[in-house]
Amino acid sequence: AFDYYPEVLMTRDALLEKLANNMSEKRFRHVQNVGKAAAELAERWGYENVQKAELAGLLHDYAKEESEATFKSLIAKYQLEPELLNWGNNVWHGMVGIYKIQEDLGLTDPEILRAIEIHTVGDAKMTLLDKIVYVADYVESGRSFEGVELARELAYKKSLDAAVAYETAQTVNFLSAKRERIYPQTLATYNAFIHAIK
Ligand code: GDP
Ligand code: FE
Ligand code: FE
Ligand code: FE
Repeated sequence: AFDYYPEVLMTRDALLEKLANNMSEKRFRHVQNVGKAAAELAERWGYENVQKAELAGLLHDYAKEESEATFKSLIAKYQLEPELLNWGNNVWHGMVGIYKIQEDLGLTDPEILRAIEIHTVGDAKMTLLDKIVYVADYVESGRSFEGVELARELAYKKSLDAAVAYETAQTVNFLSAKRERIYPQTLATYNAFIHAIK
């Protein structure tokens, strides 16, 4: 239905080809699924620019397969918070990945960039588009982990806030079970949204 994405000055076909050349087949399928889920959630929850939601979904993991060296050089080049150096790809591909997206695709739309920046860790304050991308990433049709059905139920039927709360609680559980460090902004998201699911 949508043939041209003005935010990246590209047709849909050109964008898909660029994405396919920048990531594994598996991740290419994932980002297409997230684009579709983001468009559905935009329709469901009244985000007016459905095409923009889809584009944010398509781009959200653009930098996921970049090297550690690339992320470290982007952190230096753009003088980002040095504290970021203590984290890894999981945090970098969104928080730092937006600089790679700006360089490679010329994307300047601040709402899309912000949604991609926080798609892994969320934030205490999230816009409708931020929530759509955060949740679409978790409930897209290719996901099959335990709890995904409840996540979809919350996302499509209850509310995006409840879906953000559930996803963040599950992520905190999962990271804690693996004795992984939790990025402070992830905990801020948990504290800000957990009320929505109690
Ligand atoms: P993906 O890129 O589609 O795989 O999904 P995400 O970008 O949402 O998450 C990427 C990975 O980061 C997942 O394995 C999450 O569990 C992990 N993750 C999310 N929040 C945090 C955090 O606060 N700390 C750490 N270390 N990892 C996190
Ligand atoms: Fe991601
Ligand atoms: Fe996510
Ligand atoms: Fe993703």
